[in-house]
Amino acid sequence: MLERSKLAKFRKQLLGWFRQFQRDLPWRRTKDPYRTWLSEIMLQQTRVAAAIPYYERFLQRFPDVHTLAAAPEEEVLRLWSGLGYYSRARNSQKAAQLIVAKHGGEFPSRLEAVIALPGIGNYTAAAILSIAFGEKHAVLDGNVARVLARLGAIRGDLRESWRWQELQESADRLLDTESPGDWNQAMMELGATLCTPKSPQCLLCPVAQFCEGRKLGIAESLPEKRKKQATVEVTLATAVFRDGKKQTLLLPAPKNTNEKAAADHVPTLVSKMWHFPTLSVNGESAQNLIAFLRKMMPGVQSRKWKLVPAGKVRHSVTYRAITLLPFLIEVKNLPRLRGSRHVPLADISSLPVSNLTRKVARAALAAAVSILDQR
Ligand code: SF4
Repeated sequence: MLERSKLAKFRKQLLGWFRQFQRDLPWRRTKDPYRTWLSEIMLQQTRVAAAIPYYERFLQRFPDVHTLAAAPEEEVLRLWSGLGYYSRARNSQKAAQLIVAKHGGEFPSRLEAVIALPGIGNYTAAAILSIAFGEKHAVLDGNVARVLARLGAIRGDLRESWRWQELQESADRLLDTESPGDWNQAMMELGATLCTPKSPQCLLCPVAQFCEGRKLGIAESLPEKRKKQATVEVTLATAVFRDGKKQTLLLPAPKNTNEKAAADHVPTLVSKMWHFPTLSVNGESAQNLIAFLRKMMPGVQSRKWKLVPAGKVRHSVTYRAITLLPFLIEVKNLPRLRGSRHVPLADISSLPVSNLTRKVARAALAAAVSILDQR
């Protein structure tokens, strides 16, 4: 990409800029691999500003790999609750347990051992090894790929495997082997702060003079758009029970994949955490929901149940546009189901729940208030 003399200048300018202007982020104040790892996992799919309070709370409760490994899974999920993509939390705990069992509680420093941990791919491994151990591995994620595509005026879908491979080779060639940790963070920082997806700030860019995309006037249009997956509409109906003590009923996530496959009535979109009884519907949502609840709770008296519609909740998960129809069901006593829990409807976050479940609870509470107003 760049000849030797230009490469040295490119590195000097980018590193100089990073060392002077980098954002003060909590995980940059340490070289502890546990903390670097945690920050990298949290930053997958999550913005920096959103991740910071979670990172701080999580570390307060789990300051090291041992405390994370030994914690009840439910507590780990509760502290992750709201960040989304909960497999990250589960995998992190499994990885912590493996680190304790196989590596004596010391974070491994060899690439093969790090990649073997659950939830850690090439990018995260390269980030941890370079930042915490000074190992010479170049990171490549969407941010860095965008910077590289603009610098080299690379067209086409960057996620095609051969092109991604070429980008990795470019990232490896650019890597400053004297300071791989700072270098990787500098590339990420450039992508996050100046070379942003929309309106890159080329006038402030420390490496603008090397940028082919800018010279050709096409930087902003790179990377070229991938073909978008068509949106799939999903409608779910949810039962929010409420008894006289204002408690509600939540169901646990299925414990293993077989159970999950068998539980085809529980849409996987809500089943990874504690959730309200929910079913995928196609018209006739109230009737379908009541039939589903009767099947689920065979011995429970349901003749007097009245399903009160509690509006609509909209939510998106990747390519799925979810419309969720909550129904409030006021009962004298909440049904007792194996594994279920009764918690205050106004405080369901005492259990690990998803944002979607929280939205449903809010809608049901609003419906309950308007019923009271009408009485
Ligand atoms: Fe990105 Fe502009 Fe810098 Fe090129 S000059 S790397 S497009 S910010």
